[in-house]
Amino acid sequence: METKQCNKCGKSKLPTKFRDGKLTCLKCEYRFSQRWLRSLVKERRLSPIERIANRLGYMGSTFIMLSPYLIDQNNIGYVTYCLGALLTLPQVWLAKQWNIVLLNINLLIGYGPKIFM
Ligand SMILES: [Zn+2]
Repeated sequence: METKQCNKCGKSKLPTKFRDGKLTCLKCEYRFSQRWLRSLVKERRLSPIERIANRLGYMGSTFIMLSPYLIDQNNIGYVTYCLGALLTLPQVWLAKQWNIVLLNINLLIGYGPKIFM
């Protein structure tokens, strides 16, 4: 009879002791500690708005990354700083990362007026 080795306890067991495609045996999978840990993790997928915000966030980060190198070139750096802050704002707002929201607002206040100087 063919047996399968559990990746958790290392014992060789019959394939009937495993769920389809799983490497961990049923006994290990349903241990109390395992179940408790699993109950703490919330399974969730990103909503469409969160996806868009994520992509904008990457674009904004790129602008912010570019800015220090462009800041001496006719104020372009200030414009890219502000664009970057505006583009990353939705992502950090939706993720409720308020410290980074404050950081972005600070960027806008600090560099915004310099565009027009
Ligand atoms: Zn096992």
